[in-house]
Amino acid sequence: MVSGTGQVMQVLSGTPDAPGVTRLAPSPTGALHLGNALSFLLTWALARRLGWSVVLRIEDLETPRTKAWAAQQAIDDLRWLGLDWDEGPLTQAGDLEPYRAAMDRLAWAGLVYPCTLSRREIEAAASAPNEGDHELRFGPELRPAERPPRFDDAGTNWRLAVDPGAVPFRDALLDAHGPVARDPSLSVGDFVVWTKGGQPSYQLAATVDDARQGVDRIVRGDDLLDSGARQALLRGHLGLSPEPIHLHHPLVRGADGRRLAKRHGDTRLASLRDLGVPAERVVGLVAWWLGATPRRGELAARHLPERLGPDSIGSLNGIRANADGGGVTFGEEDLTWLIDPSAGA
Ligand code: GLU
Repeated sequence: MVSGTGQVMQVLSGTPDAPGVTRLAPSPTGALHLGNALSFLLTWALARRLGWSVVLRIEDLETPRTKAWAAQQAIDDLRWLGLDWDEGPLTQAGDLEPYRAAMDRLAWAGLVYPCTLSRREIEAAASAPNEGDHELRFGPELRPAERPPRFDDAGTNWRLAVDPGAVPFRDALLDAHGPVARDPSLSVGDFVVWTKGGQPSYQLAATVDDARQGVDRIVRGDDLLDSGARQALLRGHLGLSPEPIHLHHPLVRGADGRRLAKRHGDTRLASLRDLGVPAERVVGLVAWWLGATPRRGELAARHLPERLGPDSIGSLNGIRANADGGGVTFGEEDLTWLIDPSAGA
């Protein structure tokens, strides 16, 4: 079982010669909110505490939700919070060659195939629809018999043939409960690696980029736990290294238990900034959520790393406790406090 913060920090620590490389990887699909702030502040604070270098990677592949203004705003928000990075901003959409090369390799190995089935057709074929899942399971019965040995980007989706079996990956927070492994054949089945829009999917792009950027420490929300297995599978097929150690942290949720969204109030960082809320107050709230401070208070980002040490009070205990239970809960009083700390005091 978990023995404490020290253990998590120890698992995440590199060596003096190879301290580690992590990334901040915002998707420009909308404004960053307090949930994103927790993720990026935790990533950055661990990096600065443990000596990892930080790559800023804007995951700007086109999706229906991509917004032209969002990449620059994400950079502004991160700077406003007080974060910095050692490399980047790097992007993905400008050069698709590395992802095409990965597709060539997968095709040559007979692992991928083009798929023209529509969502409706997949839905109709699914014996037991995964209720509430936005991603449909694509079972082996839908797979064509033949897989072409060459990848051609001719306006169809390409899927990876996923064999049944649990795929293990490392997670510093969850390993303590036993090895983490997921079976993507049960959750999503043959998932899309190349889209009919002529781009790699997030799964493929993130896997290729993490490897070529030397990323060996990944901190992100636990909504991406299943992606940990999918990316490990792709890494194996592509022969990529390093094998990253993850920390999948619980998401910030509203009092109704649902992940932070508009319905919980305007928690966009840009809106708070416009209201004159100092960044130190946002950082202080996140630090408290993380168990790094005993109560809400203002804190400059540069002081967060020292609060995450084994000698500090809670540090990651707060989020680990939550990993077993409800996660970090954002309440109305948090927003009230951000806007006017004297009001609820
Ligand atoms: N760009 C992804 C997101 O904003 C992050 C993915 C990752 O950390 O692997 O959700």
